[in-house]
Amino acid sequence: MARVYNFSAGPAVLPEEVLREAQEEMLDYRGCGMSVMEMSHRGKVFDGIIKEAEKDLRELMNIPDNYKVLFLQGGAHQQFSAVPMNLYKNGKAAYIVTGQWAKRAYQEASRYIDAVVVASSADKTFSYIPDCSDLDIPEDADYVYICENNTIYGTKFWELPNTKGHDLVSDISSCFLSEPVDVTKYGVLYGGVQKNVGPAGVVIMIIREDLIRDDVLPCTPTMLKWKTQADADSLYNTPPAYGIYICGKVFKWIKAQGGLAAMKERNEKKAKLLYDFLDSSDFFKGTVEKKDRSIMNVPFVIGDKELEAQFVKEAEANGLTSLKGHRSVGGMRASIYNAMPYEGVEALVAFMKKFEEEHTEK
Ligand SMILES: *Cc1c(COP(=O)(O)O)cnc(C)c1O
Repeated sequence: MARVYNFSAGPAVLPEEVLREAQEEMLDYRGCGMSVMEMSHRGKVFDGIIKEAEKDLRELMNIPDNYKVLFLQGGAHQQFSAVPMNLYKNGKAAYIVTGQWAKRAYQEASRYIDAVVVASSADKTFSYIPDCSDLDIPEDADYVYICENNTIYGTKFWELPNTKGHDLVSDISSCFLSEPVDVTKYGVLYGGVQKNVGPAGVVIMIIREDLIRDDVLPCTPTMLKWKTQADADSLYNTPPAYGIYICGKVFKWIKAQGGLAAMKERNEKKAKLLYDFLDSSDFFKGTVEKKDRSIMNVPFVIGDKELEAQFVKEAEANGLTSLKGHRSVGGMRASIYNAMPYEGVEALVAFMKKFEEEHTEK
C-alpha cells in the first residue's frame, strides 16, 4: 500500500489515524456486530455517536450555548438557497463577492431576495480581499454574507468585515477547524466537511438560536428550513450517518493534536514553508496578494502552460497528487489542510526546487 501526498482541494486528505480506526471498526463497531453504515440512526449507538461529535465540536470551537449545531446534507450549495430563505425579513442582503463560491451564493440568493454586491475582487481575478471596513451596507439588509476562505483563489479574510450591526453569515468550508474562531462574531457559520473535516455528504451549520425561525420565506421547503432540522436535532430524516461518524473521529484527532490553536500553528508552519519558497523563486510565482494569503489553499503559476502541465504530471509520478489549479486561475494549487503532514509540504517544495533547477537556464 502506498499512500500519496494528496493536495486535492476537496474531497481531500484525512488523517491516516482516522482512516485506520474506521477500518478497524468497519465490520463490527465496538461490539455491536455491525458497521456504523448499517445501523439505525434512531438507535442508541448512533445517538451516542452524533451527541459525542457535537460535544467535541462545541469544545473545539468553544461554541456558546445559544448556538445550535446541525449536521445536514446537501453540501454548501444547498445552504446558498437556505440562507436567504431562513434569514428572510426585509428580503434584502449584502454579499461580498471574493470568488466563485461567494458568487454562486449571491446568484442563488438573487432568486429569492434583493441580493446586493457591496464589495468584490472580481476586477483582479479574485486575487485579494477588498477593504471591508466601511462598506455601503443597506440598512435594511437581513445579513451580510462572506466566503471566508476562497478555496479556488487562495485568499482568506484575516479580518472580518464591518457589518455595521448586521448578522454575519460565513461559508467556512475550506478553513473549518483550521484555527480558533470567535463564534460570537457570527450569526451563521457553515461549511461542507469534505475540505478539512470529513467525507463528502455532510454540511455542518452553527446558527445563533434567534435566527432559527418559523416565519421564513413562505415557499421554503420543509427540508431547507433550519427550524425543521433544529427541532429534530438533525434527525428529521435519515442523516448522513457514516459521514458524521468520521467527522466525530476527526474532532477527536484534532483534540489529541492540541485543539485549534495547535492546528493553526501547524498550518502556519506548513504554509510558511511553501510561501517562503514561492517568494524566493524566480520560476514559480504565488498568485495572491501577500496580506490575504490563505494557509489552506496555495495557488501558484510558472506562466508557461506546457511547463505547468509537465509539472503536474511529474509531481503525480512522484507521489504528489492533485496539484492542478482550478481552471479559472490555471497553474497549480496545493491544498494543505489540517491532515496534510509537514513532510508532505517539504516533499512538494523539494520537488519544486528540483523542477526549477531542471528548467532554468544556467
Ligand atoms: C467546495 C466549496 C463549496 C461547495 O461545496 P459543496 O459541498 O460541493 O456544495 C462551497 N464553498 C466553499 C468555500 C468551498 O470550498
